Amino acid sequence: LANRMSHPDDTVIEVDGRKIGGNTLAIMAGPCSVESEEQIIEVATKVKESGAKFLRGGAFKPRSSPYSFQGMGVDGLKLLKIASVETGLPVVTEVMSIEQIDYVMEYGDIIQVGARNMQNYELLKELGKVDKPVLLKRGLSATIEELILSAEYIMAGGNSDVILCERGIRTFETYTRNTLDLSAVAVLKRITHLPVIVDPSHACGKRWMVDPLARAAVAVGADGLIIEVHNNPEKALCDGEQSLRPEEFDTLVGALKGLVNIQ
Ligand code: PEP
Ligand code: MN
Repeated sequence: LANRMSHPDDTVIEVDGRKIGGNTLAIMAGPCSVESEEQIIEVATKVKESGAKFLRGGAFKPRSSPYSFQGMGVDGLKLLKIASVETGLPVVTEVMSIEQIDYVMEYGDIIQVGARNMQNYELLKELGKVDKPVLLKRGLSATIEELILSAEYIMAGGNSDVILCERGIRTFETYTRNTLDLSAVAVLKRITHLPVIVDPSHACGKRWMVDPLARAAVAVGADGLIIEVHNNPEKALCDGEQSLRPEEFDTLVGALKGLVNIQ
């Protein structure tokens, strides 16, 4: 179903009048995790001013350590909704289990499946039944084919609005958190018709590297970017080292405007 042979035209997904796919770059930005009402409203307001079209924020967090902050849960989703109403930005937020689907459907606009759940097939099957777009992140060690097959699980269930996301993969390299596989973007654009976005933040794990990788993603043909932004990265409860400050995000978006249409 994702194959371009059977569907030559690019799929363009529209959420609240905002396009993902086609001749525009969809910019999604926000903190790794929702931490408080002040935090999410401040970040949402700033990223909107800079030109972001969607607000990202995790309420259910898949942390490597059980002792790390696990997210605010439903309370976090409610804060995302408040920030969304305040700014008009639709919300991208992660679902980790079938039991959480009703909650993210109530408060979110695009449902994110994180890298760690890319092969949670029962979850993918359930997301095939929902009527909101699914942002499917590539697994930490998943091949391109495995990513496409995971998209097929969702599409086969009846939900054709799948956004593929390259977020870096595990390699022998340890300088970066992951290795951004830009060739995956070129391959996915060639063999599927689905929108393909890039997450430079989780790919590199380092704030200074988000800007060059975002530009590279645009150059290789990405349909969108999902970028972590925090108003106080030093105090962030999750992924502060890779989060841009609002001013840095603003500079990046300014540079991207010179390369591509972000409307
Ligand atoms: C995230 O987007 O905050 C996240 C946990 O990403 P990934 O699933 O790609 O690690
Ligand atoms: Mn994160």
